[in-house]
Amino acid sequence: PYTGPSADQILAKRKQYLSPSLFHFFSKPLNVVDGKMQYLFDENGRRYLDGFGGIATVCCGHCHPDVVDAIVKQVNRIQHSTVLYLNHAIADFAEALASKMPGNLKVVFFTNSGTEANELALMIARLYTGCQDIISLRNAYHGNAAGTMGATAQSLWKFNVIQSGVHHALNPDPYRGVFGSDGEMYAKDVQDIIDFGTSGHVAGFISEAIQGVGGIIELAPDYLPAAYKSIKKAGGLCIADEVQAGFGRTGSHFWGFEAQGVVPDIVTMAKGIGNGIPLGAVVTTPEIAEVLTRRCYFNTFGGNPLCTAAGLAVLRVIEKENLQENALVVGSHLKKRLAELKDKYEIIGDVRGKGLMLGVELVTDRQQKTPAKAETLHVMEQMKELGVLIGKGGFYGNVFRITPPLCFTKEDADFLVDAMDHTMSKM
Ligand code: PMP
Repeated sequence: PYTGPSADQILAKRKQYLSPSLFHFFSKPLNVVDGKMQYLFDENGRRYLDGFGGIATVCCGHCHPDVVDAIVKQVNRIQHSTVLYLNHAIADFAEALASKMPGNLKVVFFTNSGTEANELALMIARLYTGCQDIISLRNAYHGNAAGTMGATAQSLWKFNVIQSGVHHALNPDPYRGVFGSDGEMYAKDVQDIIDFGTSGHVAGFISEAIQGVGGIIELAPDYLPAAYKSIKKAGGLCIADEVQAGFGRTGSHFWGFEAQGVVPDIVTMAKGIGNGIPLGAVVTTPEIAEVLTRRCYFNTFGGNPLCTAAGLAVLRVIEKENLQENALVVGSHLKKRLAELKDKYEIIGDVRGKGLMLGVELVTDRQQKTPAKAETLHVMEQMKELGVLIGKGGFYGNVFRITPPLCFTKEDADFLVDAMDHTMSKM
């Protein structure tokens, strides 16, 4: 049993000693003391079904024994900086990761977070092309450092820092976007930005395949091939941010971008790759990777033995337990059941996403698509009382984000939907 401080004691300390900008979802925040696969446990030992996976950071399941074992074995042996000496963990994981990539994406740079991975990717694109201009999508989230905050395109996440060399293209959002599901129409805006906002040459383009923070927005079909074509014509590199959609989460493919049939020049990842351990990566081609030999490039902990041992264990578990297949099967079932809820409740405006990366958007008026922000919070809060945790996102804070650990079962999916159904029936 847990004998540590209570939720109230932690909250008091947090108020006094921690960043005032830290936020939590619930009016009475949860004190999570244990995790086991798709479950979290609070200080009283109460079990919660985890439908959010710590923002898609847990892919194999909380404290998956194989991952824990790999971490413990490595840390008992040696944990240190990545640079200066040889260690097999980083090399083994890089090899395994490269084997999961299409095309000539074979060279891996390790980082400690998604922000760092995207910062590096943007810099590589700028170095390789000699251009500054980056195009990212409106409503995107790519990180919170100088370059990535610029590429992020929601006012909620942008502090008023100087934002240079970045343009935000029309979001190919099938639900709220002006061209509906016509991906090629949205992609014309990328060409327009190149033609009317730059010299005609750009450094690159960055996008998620399914926007996570943005509220589980799946890019309209055919968008990426058309956008990539314009970028390549302008000499730019295409960057796929797989921080949330990667590692089989979308079910049909290992990487989110694959569903649109494109091969990026650079792929970035973090979150799920470490199953909760801080780990990020940038993967690119040998030719593009060369640009970083122009100066010294150094990252003390990027790819350290502990984190890369964890990453390798994660890849092995995904394969051994067929987690991508599970994401497809369970995710399809979950989406079907959520779609049935949409038939039952007017407040559900849209159900979307792929595999175990699903979104449910709540609106008070289906025609006007008026965001039902207060209702979204209310349902989350009530579902928590029923023992089910889900996330939320979207610019208006009215989209449930369902991104559970990939070991989620059909029964878990049913329980989650039943809890949502019960909550909505009382509203
Ligand atoms: N890219 C995407 C798509 C993300 O969702 C996030 C985090 N929400 C990031 C990048 C940044 O990752 P980190 O928080 O690890 O810096």
